[in-house]
Amino acid sequence: MKLNSMEMLYADKLKDLYSAEQQIIEALPKMAEAAAAKELKQGFQKHLKQSQAQAKRIEKIFKGLGEKPDGKTCEAMKGLIKEGQEIIKMKGDPVVKDAALIGAAQAIEHYEIAGYGTARSIAAQLGFGDVADILQETLDEEWEMNEQLNRLALGDASTAGINEEAMMAEA
Ligand code: FE
Ligand code: FE
Ligand code: FE
Repeated sequence: MKLNSMEMLYADKLKDLYSAEQQIIEALPKMAEAAAAKELKQGFQKHLKQSQAQAKRIEKIFKGLGEKPDGKTCEAMKGLIKEGQEIIKMKGDPVVKDAALIGAAQAIEHYEIAGYGTARSIAAQLGFGDVADILQETLDEEWEMNEQLNRLALGDASTAGINEEAMMAEA
Protein backbone atom coordinates (compact mmCIF):
# COMPACT_ATOMS: atom_id res chain seq x y z
CA MET A 1 0.00 0.00 0.00
CA LYS A 2 1.41 3.33 -1.13
CA LEU A 3 0.47 6.75 0.12
CA ASN A 4 1.03 8.81 -3.00
CA SER A 5 -2.15 10.81 -2.69
CA MET A 6 -4.79 11.92 -0.22
CA GLU A 7 -7.21 9.54 -2.00
CA MET A 8 -4.92 6.66 -1.02
CA LEU A 9 -4.67 7.88 2.55
CA TYR A 10 -8.45 8.23 2.65
CA ALA A 11 -8.99 4.62 1.51
CA ASP A 12 -6.32 3.33 3.88
CA LYS A 13 -7.82 5.14 6.86
CA LEU A 14 -11.30 3.83 6.09
CA LYS A 15 -10.01 0.27 5.76
CA ASP A 16 -8.38 0.60 9.14
CA LEU A 17 -11.67 1.79 10.62
CA TYR A 18 -13.55 -1.02 8.90
CA SER A 19 -11.22 -3.57 10.48
CA ALA A 20 -11.63 -1.83 13.83
CA GLU A 21 -15.43 -2.04 13.59
CA GLN A 22 -15.29 -5.75 12.66
CA GLN A 23 -13.21 -6.44 15.74
CA ILE A 24 -15.49 -4.33 17.93
CA ILE A 25 -18.57 -6.18 16.63
CA GLU A 26 -16.95 -9.42 17.76
CA ALA A 27 -15.86 -8.06 21.14
CA LEU A 28 -18.96 -6.16 22.29
CA PRO A 29 -21.15 -9.22 22.99
CA LYS A 30 -18.39 -10.56 25.26
CA MET A 31 -18.13 -7.21 27.03
CA ALA A 32 -21.91 -7.11 27.46
CA GLU A 33 -21.87 -10.59 28.91
CA ALA A 34 -19.08 -9.67 31.33
CA ALA A 35 -20.73 -6.45 32.54
CA ALA A 36 -22.51 -6.73 35.90
CA ALA A 37 -24.49 -3.46 35.83
CA LYS A 38 -27.65 -3.70 33.74
CA GLU A 39 -27.17 -0.27 32.18
CA LEU A 40 -23.60 -1.06 31.17
CA LYS A 41 -24.73 -4.35 29.62
CA GLN A 42 -27.47 -2.54 27.70
CA GLY A 43 -25.05 0.20 26.68
CA PHE A 44 -22.72 -2.37 25.12
CA GLN A 45 -25.64 -4.11 23.39
CA LYS A 46 -26.91 -0.84 21.96
CA HIS A 47 -23.46 0.10 20.73
CA LEU A 48 -23.14 -3.31 19.05
CA LYS A 49 -26.12 -2.43 16.84
CA GLN A 50 -24.63 0.99 16.14
CA SER A 51 -21.26 -0.55 15.27
CA GLN A 52 -22.91 -2.93 12.80
CA ALA A 53 -24.55 0.06 11.11
CA GLN A 54 -21.23 1.94 11.14
CA ALA A 55 -19.47 -0.95 9.38
CA LYS A 56 -22.27 -0.99 6.78
CA ARG A 57 -21.71 2.73 6.17
CA ILE A 58 -18.07 2.07 5.34
CA GLU A 59 -19.09 -0.75 2.98
CA LYS A 60 -21.41 1.69 1.23
CA ILE A 61 -18.66 4.29 0.89
CA PHE A 62 -16.42 1.66 -0.74
CA LYS A 63 -19.19 0.58 -3.07
CA GLY A 64 -19.11 4.13 -4.39
CA LEU A 65 -15.38 3.68 -5.05
CA GLY A 66 -15.92 0.31 -6.72
CA GLU A 67 -13.78 -1.29 -4.03
CA LYS A 68 -14.07 -3.43 -0.93
CA PRO A 69 -12.97 -2.23 2.51
CA ASP A 70 -11.28 -5.44 3.65
CA GLY A 71 -7.65 -6.48 3.53
CA LYS A 72 -6.30 -4.43 6.40
CA THR A 73 -5.99 -5.20 10.11
CA CYS A 74 -6.22 -2.44 12.66
CA GLU A 75 -3.40 -3.46 14.98
CA ALA A 76 -4.27 -0.81 17.55
CA MET A 77 -7.79 -2.18 17.94
CA LYS A 78 -6.36 -5.68 18.30
CA GLY A 79 -4.39 -4.43 21.28
CA LEU A 80 -7.22 -2.42 22.81
CA ILE A 81 -9.58 -5.38 22.58
CA LYS A 82 -6.95 -7.66 24.04
CA GLU A 83 -6.80 -5.37 27.06
CA GLY A 84 -10.58 -5.68 27.35
CA GLN A 85 -10.36 -9.48 27.19
CA GLU A 86 -7.78 -9.44 29.95
CA ILE A 87 -10.24 -7.60 32.19
CA ILE A 88 -13.02 -10.05 31.30
CA LYS A 89 -10.80 -12.95 32.38
CA MET A 90 -9.75 -11.36 35.68
CA LYS A 91 -11.39 -12.42 38.90
CA GLY A 92 -12.56 -9.83 41.41
CA ASP A 93 -15.37 -7.61 42.58
CA PRO A 94 -17.99 -7.23 39.81
CA VAL A 95 -18.37 -3.49 40.36
CA VAL A 96 -14.61 -2.90 40.17
CA LYS A 97 -14.58 -5.04 37.03
CA ASP A 98 -17.33 -2.87 35.58
CA ALA A 99 -15.22 0.22 36.28
CA ALA A 100 -12.33 -1.48 34.47
CA LEU A 101 -14.57 -2.46 31.53
CA ILE A 102 -15.74 1.13 31.19
CA GLY A 103 -12.11 2.26 31.01
CA ALA A 104 -11.30 -0.32 28.34
CA ALA A 105 -14.39 0.61 26.34
CA GLN A 106 -13.52 4.30 26.52
CA ALA A 107 -10.06 3.59 25.12
CA ILE A 108 -11.80 1.92 22.16
CA GLU A 109 -14.17 4.86 21.67
CA HIS A 110 -11.33 7.38 21.88
CA TYR A 111 -9.41 5.49 19.19
CA GLU A 112 -12.48 5.52 16.97
CA ILE A 113 -13.06 9.21 17.63
CA ALA A 114 -9.50 9.97 16.49
CA GLY A 115 -9.83 7.75 13.41
CA TYR A 116 -13.23 8.97 12.27
CA GLY A 117 -12.23 12.58 12.88
CA THR A 118 -9.26 12.11 10.55
CA ALA A 119 -11.28 10.25 7.91
CA ARG A 120 -14.05 12.85 8.00
CA SER A 121 -11.60 15.72 7.58
CA ILE A 122 -9.81 14.04 4.67
CA ALA A 123 -13.16 13.29 2.98
CA ALA A 124 -14.13 16.95 3.31
CA GLN A 125 -10.72 18.04 2.00
CA LEU A 126 -11.21 15.80 -1.05
CA GLY A 127 -14.59 17.40 -1.70
CA PHE A 128 -16.58 14.31 -0.69
CA GLY A 129 -19.13 16.23 1.34
CA ASP A 130 -21.68 13.41 1.46
CA VAL A 131 -19.13 10.95 2.83
CA ALA A 132 -17.90 13.54 5.32
CA ASP A 133 -21.49 13.82 6.60
CA ILE A 134 -21.83 10.04 6.94
CA LEU A 135 -18.55 9.84 8.84
CA GLN A 136 -19.64 12.73 11.05
CA GLU A 137 -22.75 10.75 11.94
CA THR A 138 -20.60 7.84 13.08
CA LEU A 139 -18.26 10.20 14.91
CA ASP A 140 -21.24 11.64 16.82
CA GLU A 141 -22.29 8.12 17.85
CA GLU A 142 -18.80 7.36 19.15
CA TRP A 143 -18.84 10.57 21.19
CA GLU A 144 -22.29 9.66 22.54
CA MET A 145 -21.09 6.22 23.61
CA ASN A 146 -18.11 7.81 25.32
CA GLU A 147 -20.43 10.23 27.11
CA GLN A 148 -22.71 7.41 28.23
CA LEU A 149 -19.73 5.53 29.63
CA ASN A 150 -18.69 8.68 31.47
CA ARG A 151 -22.16 9.01 32.98
CA LEU A 152 -22.15 5.37 34.09
CA ALA A 153 -18.75 5.73 35.73
CA LEU A 154 -19.30 9.11 37.34
CA GLY A 155 -23.06 9.05 37.98
CA ASP A 156 -25.36 12.04 37.80
CA ALA A 157 -27.61 14.08 40.08
CA SER A 158 -29.93 11.13 40.74
CA THR A 159 -27.59 8.11 40.88
CA ALA A 160 -24.16 7.25 42.17
CA GLY A 161 -21.72 6.19 39.53
CA ILE A 162 -20.05 2.82 39.21
CA ASN A 163 -16.75 4.34 40.34
CA GLU A 164 -18.30 5.49 43.61
CA GLU A 165 -20.02 2.13 44.14
CA ALA A 166 -16.75 0.37 43.45
CA MET A 167 -15.21 2.22 46.41
CA MET A 168 -17.24 -0.13 48.70
CA ALA A 169 -15.33 -3.15 47.44
CA GLU A 170 -12.72 -4.39 49.85
CA ALA A 171 -9.49 -6.08 48.90
FE1 FE B 1 -17.67 2.33 15.88
FE1 FE C 1 -5.88 1.36 13.34
FE1 FE D 1 -17.69 2.81 19.08
